[in-house]
Amino acid sequence: MPEPIHVLILEDRRDDAEIMVLELEADGYEVRWVRVETPEAFLDQLEFNPDIILADYTLPRFTAPDALALLQKTGRDIPFIVVTGSISEEAAVFCMKQGAADYLLKDRLSRLGEAVRHALRTQNLRLAQRAAERQLIVLGHAVDTSINAVVMTDIGGVITFINRAVLDLWSLDPDLSVIGTRLRDLLRAPAETERLLAHLTLQRSIKGELHSTARAGRKMVLQYAANQVIDPTGKLLNLMFTFIDVTEQKKAEELRAELQHERELRELKSRFVSMLVHDFRNPLTSLQMSLSLIEKYTETFSLDQIREKLSAAQRQSANINQLVDDVLMIGKIEHLSSIFSPEQVELVGFCRTLFEDVAASVSEQHNLRFETRIEEFRYPVDPALLRRALTNLLANAVKYSPAGGSITMTLSTEKNAFVLRVSDSGIGIPEADQKRIFDGFHRASNVGSIGGTGLGLAIVKQVIVTHGGYITCESKLNRGTTFTITLPLDS
Ligand code: ADP
Repeated sequence: MPEPIHVLILEDRRDDAEIMVLELEADGYEVRWVRVETPEAFLDQLEFNPDIILADYTLPRFTAPDALALLQKTGRDIPFIVVTGSISEEAAVFCMKQGAADYLLKDRLSRLGEAVRHALRTQNLRLAQRAAERQLIVLGHAVDTSINAVVMTDIGGVITFINRAVLDLWSLDPDLSVIGTRLRDLLRAPAETERLLAHLTLQRSIKGELHSTARAGRKMVLQYAANQVIDPTGKLLNLMFTFIDVTEQKKAEELRAELQHERELRELKSRFVSMLVHDFRNPLTSLQMSLSLIEKYTETFSLDQIREKLSAAQRQSANINQLVDDVLMIGKIEHLSSIFSPEQVELVGFCRTLFEDVAASVSEQHNLRFETRIEEFRYPVDPALLRRALTNLLANAVKYSPAGGSITMTLSTEKNAFVLRVSDSGIGIPEADQKRIFDGFHRASNVGSIGGTGLGLAIVKQVIVTHGGYITCESKLNRGTTFTITLPLDS
């Protein structure tokens, strides 16, 4: 494939110009050329950006050095080769000094192709180098004026470069030389710096935060990005660090989190108080009603009627009692382990009795089932605490199945653990609430008018954890919920 080339020939003899073109074509060039003899025509043709200029040394109105000078005035960088009949050594040296790429004699034109090729190659190299230099200067400026503090160190953490932002960030005296000192001294965080350097021997880059102190004693939180500087052969040359001061940002974030926490606590408290008031008032009102009915109709009520009212009053006061218990319990929840007194209990019988107690008190629309294949199972538990937890789970299953449905307690042994499940087909728990239902006071968004304090499950969880076990919950909205308690055998 011939190489296309655009040649501007400065020559008064047409034949000579044609010979040059033939030479170039013989050398594999596809030549587009134009011949000029006057300074005006030369300047005009420069506008078309030729690849190369071939110039006779002397023309009637012009010389090669004149043309070179004109070319340079235009600021164009086009290789310029002097091709002449005869040339003195001084003249040749003069042309080269003026910036000619080469010179050759017309009777040695066979060298022309090679001379052109060499001149173009040299020009390309020169252009590439100039571009690289320009880029280096821009990069240097970019780093120096960056608002991020940039520090370069050798592999041992000795500083080899800093930009201006470093001086600002650490309030350094510009006359004080930081180059050659240690990064740990700049940061005033020896342990953190050593850790950072150690990480950088293993990892190409890391990001993080560290605490540093400016010279004036100002404490700062800095966000950093650090990386190995590696040359194209893979050799580790330097370590580079950029730092941004995020102290104010951090303070604002902490303040925001504190305020948020406070607000949540306030909301929690007021929600809790209003729930408690509501929960106490209901059974209290019923209790008062039962008692005032007895008082009012003592004369007219039969003994049975009075007994019935009294036992209703008893149930209502038991409810209040339970509520007081829950509230007291929640106070103790943190140090449950100090009141934990386990004893060997046969769990199958224990659970069955407890289950039957609950089953006896629920309406007919609930279908309660107890399922197990285990005959008996001994395990160390605190019976009072466990009874409270399991009763709570069963009561929830009933309470959150307002339309009735089946409620099942299942006991099994699985993989070195005793597993107890309580499932219902009630309202379920929305996915967004599932991970928070074991937190105190949290109630799911779908509870509607079903009463509660959000304390029960927090207590259940703490009881199970105190027994060395864990509790999980699976639920589908409007399909039902299963709580699974796992008590490991080796705990
Ligand atoms: P509460 O006094 O509100 O019943 P719990 O701590 O016992 O408090 O339960 C926390 C929340 O978990 C309940 O408010 C309810 O949203 C949800 N929940 C608990 N058990 C069930 C269940 N079996 N079915 C549906 N939701 C339940």
